[in-house]
Amino acid sequence: PSTRYAEAMGDPDSILRSTFGFAGFRGSQRAVIDRVMAGEHSLAVMPTGAGKSLCYQIPALARPGTALVVSPLIALMHDQVRAAKAVGIEAATLTSADNNRAETMARFRDGSLDLLYVAPERASGSGFQDMLRQTPLSLIAIDEAHCVSEWGHDFRPDYRLLRPLLDQFPSVPRLALTATADRHTRADILEQLGIPESGAIIAGFDRPNIRYVIRPRAGIGQQVKALLAEQPGAGIIYATSRAATEKLAGQIAATGRNAGVYHAGLPPEERAANQAAFVASEDMVMCATIAFGMGIDKPDVRFVAHAGIPKSLEAYYQETGRAGRDGDPAEARLFWGADDFSRARRRVETEIEEHRRAGERARLNALGALVETANCRRAILLRHFGEDPPAQCGNCDNCLSPPKTVDATETARKFLSAVYRTGQRFGMGHVGEVLAGRENDRILSLGHDRLSVFGIVEGEEEAMVKPVARALQTRDALIQTEHGGLALGPGARAILKGEEEVALILPPKRARKSRAGRAA
Ligand code: ADP
Ligand code: ZN
Repeated sequence: PSTRYAEAMGDPDSILRSTFGFAGFRGSQRAVIDRVMAGEHSLAVMPTGAGKSLCYQIPALARPGTALVVSPLIALMHDQVRAAKAVGIEAATLTSADNNRAETMARFRDGSLDLLYVAPERASGSGFQDMLRQTPLSLIAIDEAHCVSEWGHDFRPDYRLLRPLLDQFPSVPRLALTATADRHTRADILEQLGIPESGAIIAGFDRPNIRYVIRPRAGIGQQVKALLAEQPGAGIIYATSRAATEKLAGQIAATGRNAGVYHAGLPPEERAANQAAFVASEDMVMCATIAFGMGIDKPDVRFVAHAGIPKSLEAYYQETGRAGRDGDPAEARLFWGADDFSRARRRVETEIEEHRRAGERARLNALGALVETANCRRAILLRHFGEDPPAQCGNCDNCLSPPKTVDATETARKFLSAVYRTGQRFGMGHVGEVLAGRENDRILSLGHDRLSVFGIVEGEEEAMVKPVARALQTRDALIQTEHGGLALGPGARAILKGEEEVALILPPKRARKSRAGRAA
């Protein structure tokens, strides 16, 4: 025990230099550490890579006692312990995967550990809590704290069991840490873990060197080819299925570009080899599912593309955040389709437990707002994380070439009415034909030519029908039924009642001409 840092070192600054070898604190680290040193409860919201571990490791060394670190993943804990030991910190894990538990407990009891990592289900056990009373605690860190919230994207019921434990040690400073907390989740973490509102420290989320570009998907093969022609450096393309990653990699390889594949279905050796090749390469394009990226240390990723929508704004931020860690210009390009939203919305209604649906719907709405906006993408993203950014960033597609918009509220109302009047079971094509007044067999046999909405869209407005339908699907005004038809969603009401407007981004000139040509 005499070799412990707590006795040997002292203040956070000298520990930062001598133990970790870093010249200074980054971002919010200092503010967080000051609070913990002062014995206060805190929530640190910092983007991935910002250096959250240091925020509890340094106080763990500088304060007397052992720090308890609650973490949801055994693999993550083992990584952390390995890294801590490498710089001379006395750290251990206490999980079901460890067979030296008796030894670890003995080390804990005699106070020779700086850090003890535990899984939440273990931390909440009564035997464990008795053990905790035998040694002074320097702090309790709750890593991946969004797991405590049903609003979060990764709710773990076990995290709810932590509160009684925390309340048994009211004077031990708690530090909740997360990279992904929107306002709701953050408020929930504070409440669930008994941290005062004033204890929330939110780091800057902006990644100014990343350019955000978001486009409707239209011939993804060509779109990817165009992207690669602009981006000769290494990059990641996220696709939504294993098959899609392989197809994409094949197409890219056929153009002569170095391409790799990564998804959970590959044998572990192959995955590891592909990942290593990517890290070492300066021009490789990794076609991957979201299984790829966690813990990958490659600072010079020049672009991250999405061939379909990510799960949430948090996921988008995290995945695009893998680009440009070296600070040089990098690009995040997202290709979205209305069908991405329809599918996701249907999944929420059919596969997600009732009590989690509101959160999932809100997540999709936030994503819909990002892809649909004619305003600054970065501002939307940063506002979502609770920041107050300038209205324009100068480094996203919309800031660089502001799109023209047109008020499509009236067309949207017509479309929603037509969906309703035709019985909420037909697709975009049929509803559009009813609105346009086409007298085809199907419409005649269904009697849809006798509906009040038949033929109420004419001339130029016709070209707006499909884009409007897509926009309505990014919102929750239109949802796809299990048979592929469209039905009104919860957001339809406000539009029908004239309480909400729908603006459409006009496609660039060339695309408009071709659409008109096709319609003629
Ligand atoms: P997070 O958990 O927030 O994703 P980590 O704690 O894993 O981030 O830290 C990310 C990287 O940044 C690590 O390699 C860490 O050693 C490094 N790092 C953290 N703080 C500093 C600092 N003050 N100066 C330099 N490097 C730092
Ligand atoms: Zn912008």
